[in-house]
Amino acid sequence: MFQEVFSSVQGEGPYVGTRQVFVRFTGCNLNCAFCDTPTNTKPEHFVLEKTPGLRDFIQIKNPVEPIRMAELIKHYYNLENHHSVSLTGGEPLLHTDYIAQLVPLVQGTKRGIFLETNGTLPEKLASIINRIDIISMDIKLFSSTKEKTPWELHKEFLQVASQKDVYVKVVVSSATNFDELEQVVELIKNINRNIELVLQPVTPKGGIAPLDNHSLLLLQEQALKTLKNVRVIPQTHLMMGQL
Ligand code: SF4
Repeated sequence: MFQEVFSSVQGEGPYVGTRQVFVRFTGCNLNCAFCDTPTNTKPEHFVLEKTPGLRDFIQIKNPVEPIRMAELIKHYYNLENHHSVSLTGGEPLLHTDYIAQLVPLVQGTKRGIFLETNGTLPEKLASIINRIDIISMDIKLFSSTKEKTPWELHKEFLQVASQKDVYVKVVVSSATNFDELEQVVELIKNINRNIELVLQPVTPKGGIAPLDNHSLLLLQEQALKTLKNVRVIPQTHLMMGQL
């Protein structure tokens, strides 16, 4: 089941600005307070933007077979001109059987397959790790989600993901505290301190306030005491009005 398919620039993290085909799956195993993904897990249709940036969406009935999805992607977008195909959600790892079938059919980008995940399904990741090239792993902190952070699952997940090009992304808001960031830092350090950590200032909405600049820089400094690479990168696609 899908929500949307489009070609645009990656708006978050160290691959910001790269051109990707986004394939957004429905459904998630978490329930974050700031989630902006539609909650309907079984939409009758998904939308596909025919021409990048023109919002000329067509509606296509769910579900579609992997071979049909690959045909649609290759018909509307030239994969050679893309950095990667981004599998996103929701939580794409709820769809590993589908991904295993789709990935061989959408080869031809410059860097392959990019997975955007909440980092809580290590066994699912292990089952398709050979088909994935780059992993963007979120760790959702209690201060943002109001859900207990599943540290053990994140640890197992990052161990599997560290076979590949992986970075960890944490959304920080005015509620983020140093202790929970330190847990993220420790988790990364115990696997590989070269793994990049991205602090993503929350985009203010729905009563969630951003962290002030001073505190944001202090958080970065705290993480840099232990890790090699800690960057602050906001959501840039929203600034540009890109999908
Ligand atoms: S992990 Fe992502 S998609 Fe799932 S509930 Fe949280 S914000 Fe929404």
